[in-house]
Amino acid sequence: MKKLVKTIPLLMASIGFASSALAGVHWGYEGNELPENWAQLSPEYQMCGLGKNQSPVNISGAIEAQIGQLKTHYGQTSGEIVNNVHTVQITEKNPNDYVIVNGERYDLIQFHFHSPSENKINGKSYPMEGHFVHANKNGDLLVMAVMFDEGAENTSAEQLLSLLSEEENKPTNFDNINISSFLPKDKSYYRFSGSLTTPPCSEGVTWIVLKHPMTLSKTEIDKFSHAFKHHNNRPIQPLNGRIIISNN
Ligand SMILES: [Zn+2]
Repeated sequence: MKKLVKTIPLLMASIGFASSALAGVHWGYEGNELPENWAQLSPEYQMCGLGKNQSPVNISGAIEAQIGQLKTHYGQTSGEIVNNVHTVQITEKNPNDYVIVNGERYDLIQFHFHSPSENKINGKSYPMEGHFVHANKNGDLLVMAVMFDEGAENTSAEQLLSLLSEEENKPTNFDNINISSFLPKDKSYYRFSGSLTTPPCSEGVTWIVLKHPMTLSKTEIDKFSHAFKHHNNRPIQPLNGRIIISNN
């Protein structure tokens, strides 16, 4: 548990509370605070520049292996949704959603969106990418990424977006929204080691990128992007010899 206690504040800081509650150094996607400068903004962000296992990446040359199926246990969720300037984030109130990877349980802490996608699959970028951030009992992080193409609307996204306050950093509570509809039926995936894609860019994060994209309507994508006001994707980082595994 010790590690969990240490990791979660870092994670919260990285995903948007930096400028307020935790007094971290401001970072962003534009001007002096853009991703190329993150490592220079604060000594706490040095991994953004020095790290060799950084995210996002372009997924290519994946090696097929018998690494087992991904088991997701997502259902009705209560929590809050907020535009925290960096992203639209949904935080679980009573975490009871989880995934099983390699026999290990990881509980969902929060999820949020990037537009355009951060990871690429064989060079292909998607209009949006959802990051479902999980931690196991030791505090090890796992991010499950879902790509979104433009297409049919998503009812859960619709419900959540209707609750989103126009005001930044103003959370809205919600009850019983079924978040499993953000996930494709076929949960085949790529797996690799990476980092948080926002400062402090901490490494040791297990990445699971689902191969099959979901869809959001153009209106839904526009609503998300309007909330961000600008692109919120960190550029692709070098693999530096990392191996990407595919569960065929
Ligand atoms: Zn993210």
